[in-house]
Amino acid sequence: MDDGTTTPERHAVPNASVGIDRGVKTAVVTSDGDFHDREFLTPGEASRYRRLQQQLARTDKGSANRAKVRARMNKIMGRVTARRGDFCAQLAHQITAKNAVVALEDLGTRKMTASASGTLAEPGRRVAQKRGLNRAILDKGWHRLELALSSAARYTGTQVVKVNPAYTSQRCSACGFVTESNGESQAVFRCKAAGCRYAAHADVNAAINVKHAAGHAVSACGDLAARRSLKQEPEGRATGRSLS
Ligand SMILES: [Zn+2]
Repeated sequence: MDDGTTTPERHAVPNASVGIDRGVKTAVVTSDGDFHDREFLTPGEASRYRRLQQQLARTDKGSANRAKVRARMNKIMGRVTARRGDFCAQLAHQITAKNAVVALEDLGTRKMTASASGTLAEPGRRVAQKRGLNRAILDKGWHRLELALSSAARYTGTQVVKVNPAYTSQRCSACGFVTESNGESQAVFRCKAAGCRYAAHADVNAAINVKHAAGHAVSACGDLAARRSLKQEPEGRATGRSLS
């Protein structure tokens, strides 16, 4: 950690915060309504990779041929990993430069939610296939974005907050009403609360909810930060104490 980076005590834009969400179609969607995406796997690479997967299944374990097919697959995935790394680093840099607080869904919690509703294994698998290789790569990359954000945050003083993802897509970010999901992922969120006519891009609505959830988390962290800065004085004398 000690690489000489000095994290500013205060972000250059102290009041700016943003929520980010994994979009259904776009890689990353922010509460500001920004959509960030790139192609991680070209269509050519995707079909080549699928062909290699089939080839691999026909090879014998431990054979030279198997190793050769594996190496070809790894080469494609290596390129994907590099692109994903670039994408995450650039995006993290951009987002942390603009925001003092960045909120994102807690991946661990989301996984738990997914496995709880994972009784429909068959349709689930079909959905996964439909979503394709590119999407699977993206899902894997979410953790990487989280790491990139934390790392970029050290240069700007941005706070990265992880929030509970429960209801982020079903809740209306304008009035808080939770609309039962019909199981389909829809492009537009429409609030069903009486009197509320809020409608927005579904992913943007979710990202705004993530941002709101972080608002609560940050006020709790704010107390913590205050307590920590109070403690900094005795810590400053720690060197002296270690002599005794
Ligand atoms: Zn509403």
